Amino acid sequence: MGPPGAGKGTQGARLAEWLGVPRFSTGDMLREARRAGTELGERARRYMDAGELVPDEVILDLIDETLRGADASRGFILDGFPRTETQAEGLGDVLARRGESLDAVVDLQVPEEELVRRLSARRVCPECGAVWSAEELESGEEGIPCPECSAGVEQREDDRPETVRRRLEVYRTQTEPVLAWYAASDVPVVAVPGTGPVSEVQRRLRERLTEGAET
Ligand code: AMP
Repeated sequence: MGPPGAGKGTQGARLAEWLGVPRFSTGDMLREARRAGTELGERARRYMDAGELVPDEVILDLIDETLRGADASRGFILDGFPRTETQAEGLGDVLARRGESLDAVVDLQVPEEELVRRLSARRVCPECGAVWSAEELESGEEGIPCPECSAGVEQREDDRPETVRRRLEVYRTQTEPVLAWYAASDVPVVAVPGTGPVSEVQRRLRERLTEGAET
């Protein structure tokens, strides 16, 4: 868990690779559904573009279906989910039915001014899904070639300043309370500073999760 721009996708992907487990990002799944023009994508569109959360029942169905279809036998990483207490409760039910439980909840912490800076500089590749910062690309211009696959990079619609403000507010009011909810449960909540180089954050994350596994 973490606010928009905290690095959930970047760190989650690296962690999943290290652990050899799949990563399920509800944001990525919704964006994929939009690209594919499915009913789910159409339903999610207006919430996402406004920086609001997609309704809990839609997300819970999506997660339930994803976990049923996936090879999750060695575990999995959830990225960007749960985002409300209702989703956390729903996840608890889904996991209980599967005879599973969460090992840890990661709280990736980044100060608000850094989040705004990162989100305004974020560019994504619509073809290969790579995520870049304007600094890495040496330009914030849309359409310049993705270093991975040469397609023109874009700014996410919801990374524009008005929507960013709303997404941060939604995080503070609807998602942050989920951390307190987990803190009051028996799932360990591991707070990790998300600032500094990507590799350094990843090192901290692995260290903290390994410590957790040993205690
Ligand atoms: P993300 O890529 O995680 O920042 O998600 C982008 C957008 O997708 C969010 O601003 C929401 O509109 C929607 N979304 C992603 N995950 C969830 C979730 N767990 N619950 C509700 N909406 C979500």
